[in-house]
Amino acid sequence: MADAIAPELQPPVRVLMGPGPSDTHPRVLAALSAGTVGHLDPYYLELMNHMQQMLRAVMRTNNRMTMAISGTGSAGMEATVTNLIEPGDSMVVCVNGVFGGRMVDVAERAGAKVTRVDRPWGQVFEPADLKEALAKSKPKVVGIVMAETSTGARQPIEVISKLVHDSGAMLLVDAVTALGGIPVEVDKWKIDAIYSGTQKCLSCPPGLAPVSFSDRAMEVILARKTKVQSWYLDVSMLAKYWGEERVYHHTAPINMTYALYEALRLLLEEGLEACHARHLLNHRALKAGLAALGIRYASDEANQLPMLNAVWIPEGVDDVAVRKGLLTRFGIEIGGGLGDFKGKAWRIGLMGHASRANNVLLFLGALEQLLAEQGCKFTPGASVAAANGIYATGK
Ligand SMILES: *Cc1c(COP(=O)(O)O)cnc(C)c1O
Repeated sequence: MADAIAPELQPPVRVLMGPGPSDTHPRVLAALSAGTVGHLDPYYLELMNHMQQMLRAVMRTNNRMTMAISGTGSAGMEATVTNLIEPGDSMVVCVNGVFGGRMVDVAERAGAKVTRVDRPWGQVFEPADLKEALAKSKPKVVGIVMAETSTGARQPIEVISKLVHDSGAMLLVDAVTALGGIPVEVDKWKIDAIYSGTQKCLSCPPGLAPVSFSDRAMEVILARKTKVQSWYLDVSMLAKYWGEERVYHHTAPINMTYALYEALRLLLEEGLEACHARHLLNHRALKAGLAALGIRYASDEANQLPMLNAVWIPEGVDDVAVRKGLLTRFGIEIGGGLGDFKGKAWRIGLMGHASRANNVLLFLGALEQLLAEQGCKFTPGASVAAANGIYATGK
């Protein structure tokens, strides 16, 4: 059977500057390799308590029901939507990119009557955009993506929160790319349900989805008339494992929990504000560098995310050749465009541990070489010089 043995595992060294996964911090990788304990081991139960406390600190909430769902960011989406929605419930979903579209699909599968409100890709929602849909469909839940990874647009949550609550609905927020990269204020913005993922700005591999539910959301969930469609993601059952009862539900991904635990420690050691400032500084440096090459952003100036830079591919440049050159010659992964942006945009991530000057300067230098080969005209070294100009000011 020796011929059934596949080659030894030897993943190439990559710099992950796409839309996720992003670079994992070495301390997180070390945590992953620690010895596995049982999911009811007293040590593990202690770890869960600490992790809940750290998640509350990072999400800026006192919500009791704050935990990590076993699965990637999409499992967080599925968990929040399917627990809040019963078949026939009305839900409004805001769509200005791929992930809003995914939320529509998840909500429809959960049996929601979905009213979809669209904005052009790269733009964000104002209260006026939602008024009519809220008045007409009287939703139980309004879902919105805070950091749309397909377009690089940042949705201010505070501006729509009041309108949503005045209409009697609960506010559900996708913070998969937001958490760790920009401020997320669950209590202050009165978010009822929120989910994130480990693999974007938390410097961790994909595998867990931090979630938090307000007390109001939990009351609604515990008063459901029908069982949650998903046994695995039923929060009322998960609450008994994460709460004092410690009732076995499913075997927790122990080592992923170690990883997230260490990632949260790193984030809190750095400090939320310092971490957000680091993301902003590296974004500004990248942006200055790209501008020096004549490359423009795809989202409105006012709403650009620091951790996901969606930019238009310069005219005449071969999208695939550049991305392939970055990967094979420099080990750098960036993202291509999705949906409406396919073949038109690049998505350059500066998320979590990947948001470093090293990566910005390496990427700009490599990009200059590849663009020059494609016949693009610019002053050699201009992008690196422009980025360094930003670093010299420190902000
Ligand atoms: C990546 C992403 C998701 C999905 O997360 P997965 O980890 O790929 O399942 C959902 N929403 C947003 C905004 C994302 O960026």
